[in-house]
Amino acid sequence: MNIFDKIIDLFLFRDGSDEDSRSTEPKVTVGSIVWGVMLRTTILLLVSTFLLYTMEYRHLWWFMLFGIWLLAIYPGWRQYHKFHERMKKFTEDTLCGSCKYFNSAGQLCKIYDEHVSTEHIPCDGQNWEPLSEE
Ligand code: SF4
Repeated sequence: MNIFDKIIDLFLFRDGSDEDSRSTEPKVTVGSIVWGVMLRTTILLLVSTFLLYTMEYRHLWWFMLFGIWLLAIYPGWRQYHKFHERMKKFTEDTLCGSCKYFNSAGQLCKIYDEHVSTEHIPCDGQNWEPLSEE
């Protein structure tokens, strides 16, 4: 995925799907959600500040806050909810889900620093250790 596609994904808050669980390049992780919220908030702040000051509508500043909530924070929260549901299923369906080296926020193996998927377990089970021993 090139940098342009990544920026579009962050900006549009594309929903993750089960395809992400099968991919070693998941589009949606906690990091991408946070970046998306920050990117959209920054753009909204810049655009609305420019409009409020150039068009003399400063008394409507609260529209800016409403816009940030509606277009940045709320979609981010919805996306996180979907991501959380997908990760719940992912941890049940994979060996990595029960391993102490698994980082669910990034769908990542902490030892190999690689994304894991339902199709790809970097260690092939060799380094698996149960969560309870952590
Ligand atoms: S050590 Fe192996 S089982 Fe554990 S998260 Fe990494 S790849 Fe998955």
